[in-house]
Amino acid sequence: RAKEAGRNRFKVFTNRMLETAVDQLTMENDMRHGLEEGDFHVAYQPIMQLGGSDIIGFEALARWKHPDRGNIPPAEFIPMAEESGLISQIGKWILFESLRTLAQWQKQTPDAKGLFMSVNLSSKQFARIDLDSMILNALTEQGLSPDSLKLEITESAIMENPESAIRILNRLRAKGIRFSIDDFGTGYSSLSQLQQLPVDTLKVDRSFISRMKTDPENMEIVKAVIALAHSLDLSVIAEGVEKPDQLHSLMQLKCECVQGFYFHEPMSSENALELVLRRTTSTRDQTEQKMTRA
Ligand code: C2E
Ligand code: MG
Ligand code: MG
Ligand code: MG
Repeated sequence: RAKEAGRNRFKVFTNRMLETAVDQLTMENDMRHGLEEGDFHVAYQPIMQLGGSDIIGFEALARWKHPDRGNIPPAEFIPMAEESGLISQIGKWILFESLRTLAQWQKQTPDAKGLFMSVNLSSKQFARIDLDSMILNALTEQGLSPDSLKLEITESAIMENPESAIRILNRLRAKGIRFSIDDFGTGYSSLSQLQQLPVDTLKVDRSFISRMKTDPENMEIVKAVIALAHSLDLSVIAEGVEKPDQLHSLMQLKCECVQGFYFHEPMSSENALELVLRRTTSTRDQTEQKMTRA
């Protein structure tokens, strides 16, 4: 009986594995198709500087509208793209598309001149030898200077191979491209490693911000990250600010930049441009109102 049960279990297991493999292949095909058919687009989320109550840049976020399944969140399709290797193509498309958009904004209004585009880089892209040329090509193609681009990499991407990561970062930093460490606090970089990284910004992970009020330990973590960043001469962006009390605490902790639904959700390039066009007056007032209320 035990043998039989074992055999059955094995059968169930392989069937499920097969199903998963087929699912994965289908999704890979759909993704490849989707890239050609225009099912992907980029959403732009404003990054705000608290000091001047102003938008200083946007994060480019990948969106995929599957023809049958509707919107699939990046938390689902990015890992699949990484596993299949398609992330190189998708990532390249996101980079070109978001820089094309920024260049277009800049043609339409001088207000867009000082803005940066912050683009997520997967660890798989990070390891590619053609990374530098891909990035520099994307910039020159749009006539943008390197300081219009910020690349977001996670601690874990760096920690996969710290020596090589430091080399790559140094090389691109020398060409004027700036880096943020994304989801900071969720990885395992040591202080000495952090000190060696030529990065400009730490983005404090949303999980710490969301639990800041309910859990004093999280408040202490955010406080420590901000102090750490400042002592290393880095700027800080708090991710996922949703509530006035979070903003209030962040202002008290002298966090200079925020990004979150309390200010703006990711939006279409048209809406983002509209925001930039209005930003000299009304958006600054709106931000100030929110800061006063916090
Ligand atoms: P991330 O890079 O940390 O991006 C921030 C995520 O937080 C975005 O989710 C954004 O919509 C969400 N967010 C921003 N403010 C708030 C808030 O106040 N509340 C809440 N609940 N969420 C907020 P999204 O767009 O679903 O992306 C999830 C993750 O997928 C990203 O996290 C990033 O790791 C990955 N991703 C997205 N686009 C790309 C891409 O083009 N390339 C790569 N490699 N990864 C990407
Ligand atoms: Mg990011
Ligand atoms: Mg992030
Ligand atoms: Mg995050």
